[in-house]
Amino acid sequence: MLQIDELEVALDADAGLVRAIAGMRLTLSRGETFALVGESGCGKSMTALALMRLLPDNGRIAGGRLRLDGEDLFALPEARMRAVRGGRIGMIFQEPSTSLNPVMRVGAQIVEAIEAHTPLRGAAARAKAIEWLRRVGIPEPERRIDEYPFRLSGGQKQRVMIAMTLAAEPDYLIADEPTTALDVTIQAQILELLRDLQRERSLGVLLITHDLGVVAGMAHRVALMYAGQIIETAPAAEFFAAPKHPYARLLLQALPDAAKRGEPLAAIAGTVPPLWLDFEGCRFAPRCDRAMRHCAGTLPRMSVEGPEHEVRCLLYTEPGEALPRVEPAPASPAAAFAEAAPEQRPLLDVRKLRVRFELKGGRFGGKPRFFDAVDDVSYSIEPGRTLALVGESGCGKTTSGKAIVQLLRRQALIEGQALLDGQDLFALDGAALLEARRQVQIIFQDPFASLNPRLRVFELLEEGLLALRPELDAAARRRNIEALVEQVGLRRDALERWPHEFSGGQRQRIAIARALAVEPRLIVCDEPTSALDVSVQAQILNLLRELQRSRGLSYLFITHNIGVVEYVADSVAVMQAGRIVESGSCAQVLGAPQQDYTRALLAAVPRVPRPI
Ligand code: SF4
Repeated sequence: MLQIDELEVALDADAGLVRAIAGMRLTLSRGETFALVGESGCGKSMTALALMRLLPDNGRIAGGRLRLDGEDLFALPEARMRAVRGGRIGMIFQEPSTSLNPVMRVGAQIVEAIEAHTPLRGAAARAKAIEWLRRVGIPEPERRIDEYPFRLSGGQKQRVMIAMTLAAEPDYLIADEPTTALDVTIQAQILELLRDLQRERSLGVLLITHDLGVVAGMAHRVALMYAGQIIETAPAAEFFAAPKHPYARLLLQALPDAAKRGEPLAAIAGTVPPLWLDFEGCRFAPRCDRAMRHCAGTLPRMSVEGPEHEVRCLLYTEPGEALPRVEPAPASPAAAFAEAAPEQRPLLDVRKLRVRFELKGGRFGGKPRFFDAVDDVSYSIEPGRTLALVGESGCGKTTSGKAIVQLLRRQALIEGQALLDGQDLFALDGAALLEARRQVQIIFQDPFASLNPRLRVFELLEEGLLALRPELDAAARRRNIEALVEQVGLRRDALERWPHEFSGGQRQRIAIARALAVEPRLIVCDEPTSALDVSVQAQILNLLRELQRSRGLSYLFITHNIGVVEYVADSVAVMQAGRIVESGSCAQVLGAPQQDYTRALLAAVPRVPRPI
């Protein structure tokens, strides 16, 4: 058994001493999967690093004990800990590319792990490595064993990582977001593999993830973390059926799905508090919808609420007078989301779109060779409606969106038509092209990468106005920009700040404000919430729906998240290898898919059971 007892982890940061983990207690038995869940920065990954004694230089274990079958690992000399690390406890990270040595063949890396932790040597270790590669589903392992990591796909690299970790025959496995970087179909294969290997080897798995769907499909028990503390521990089925902590309830309500269409998602107001504060009360109090008068001044402790079910909330130990509820200003009444009758004439009508990239190698007199990233793609979007383009990475959905926003004019050959109100976007130039650019804007997945870090928010928003709305004078630009930041839920003083001063969700709001500044009619939303936590995702989806209602915007929504599609989309087009393989209304495509590929894609999506 792996036992964590009152673990405290501290980090020295510029702002002061950060208590990254406070008073953590949990046990992991052989043969069980224990999921540690929570939003970014809650301390999940720091827990994994602490268990392996691999904290960053500014971090230290400030208290508590970690026992492996009774032996205190925090008291072990480093030389003995090295044998435990990898030997008794293996670890898989989110991004296999950074964990595999790029200049070493994959087989040599697996053999190294086998020789370090088992008695096998030489040819026997190599044979074992081949056996592991086969076991994790790498085709032709005898040949692939001598490949370098760059020759493998993301899913294959993650399989190699798993083979390397398990080849050392550990008793426990810490898997930190092991499938976050993978497509849903590859994710499903990797999770299946982990389940099989766990059963077969009776592994104890500590699964760290923010994906509640993955947890629902994998975990026996769940611990939910918030601001460095575990706030609820429960058997997985019980956690999803009847979560007890107010944060757990809100988190499950914030997940988008078909059942919540037409209603605003339950966004959790506010943000996680910084961990250098000295807390005198409940860490969740400023955001809690059930907060009581004494919550801000009383530290909640864990209370037992059932076999293996514990909660850190005063509602269960010292119930008292509820605070008067401040109803959040109605972002929009539910009726505002009511489905409008679609207009017949499409705003955007894409016909036989083909995007071709020239391949290197055609330069020496030979014929140029092309790669068709998008091939014969047609779809349309009515005013005020949303079309979701879904598919796995590399299927052409982002390329298709970028082509519409005219971002590929120089890099690719574009064929076909994209008619915006009957006018072909690809045939425009001069003033007409400028006007078309104003009407079609884009929001990217990573708001930080898409905002110039050297410009303040005001300058960022003014940039587009200067280029695309030259008729506005300085005073009109300022008026527009001030109104915009308020519309996207930021305060006016945000205008004088820099992008790095904002959280991920706030940066995405700035990116949305920037797109809106030039009053577009269509916005291409390229995975706009995939880098965000569930509660922030709910805020952004609510904002996008509200803007659609108030401004009549149309969205081309590019995503791999089927829950988001069910929540926002009116129609769906499924892409595979550059082509649309199935399209139709959301209900048709997701409810009764006709193509095998769509069925496989939907079957691979991990689902969260709905609370009772
Ligand atoms: Fe909410 Fe109070 Fe419970 Fe904290 S202790 S979660 S503020 S009810």
